[in-house]
Amino acid sequence: MASLTLKGKVIISGSVEAVTGLHIGGAAAGLDIGGIDNPIIRHPVSREPYIPGSSLRGKMRSLLDRHFGNEANHDIRREEPKVRVHVCDNEDKYSNCAVCQIFGVTPGERERRSWSQLKPARLLVRDVHLAADHEATERLRRAKTDLPFTEVKWEAAIDRITSAAVPRQNERVPAGAIFAPFELVYGIYALNGQGWESDVAWLQYVFKAMELLEDDYLGGYGSRGAGKIAFRNIHVVCKPHGYYEGKKGLETLAENLTVAELQPQAYAERIQKLLQE
Ligand SMILES: [Zn+2]
Repeated sequence: MASLTLKGKVIISGSVEAVTGLHIGGAAAGLDIGGIDNPIIRHPVSREPYIPGSSLRGKMRSLLDRHFGNEANHDIRREEPKVRVHVCDNEDKYSNCAVCQIFGVTPGERERRSWSQLKPARLLVRDVHLAADHEATERLRRAKTDLPFTEVKWEAAIDRITSAAVPRQNERVPAGAIFAPFELVYGIYALNGQGWESDVAWLQYVFKAMELLEDDYLGGYGSRGAGKIAFRNIHVVCKPHGYYEGKKGLETLAENLTVAELQPQAYAERIQKLLQE
């Protein structure tokens, strides 16, 4: 029997700024909003826009797949539009694959396999809401936007034969909106007492994904100008196992940094030392 032990957690937090308009799609054309073609996702109770953790996490995963050139070998949706992802299909590959280590293999795959080294996904990503008590949110609340907190951008699809322009509306959170706090929680595990050092080493790719995302886009219409985001006020802390037993403090690794200022290598060395003790 395998025994899994939590060695510690690394928590990366801060805020996400919408540098351009941001469109993270919700359910198509809600009746209550007058039939917008492409509405954004909103919190069901507050009706405020938010960034689902799954959107952020999925984008980080796909950017890392592309970074490593991982083959999209697995259908998670077979009907159109198809969704093909990368999931390692043997244990040798898995043991060297940052993406499957950090983000895990799909539940169906987990059940089919009896790999000796299979660990849970290391990374969880929480939903990110509009920053409470932040002037950017207050500005947005007061602004006379088309819909609460959002603008409706008209775009035209041009028929290539008749040149007829067919207008459609895309709802976006305007540039300047601040979502906070974002929180990425990274678990470091020992399997039968071993192997946690490699979890510390994989962590650098979480920072890499953040860097890649800033130069890519989140949500829809990225090729048409939407979805540029920036991580701000990044904090990185490590909570060793003893922290959860009230025996150790947490270690602050970074405070108020941008992605460019992060030092993944230095953090890995400090975490390694901290968890050895
Ligand atoms: Zn993989």
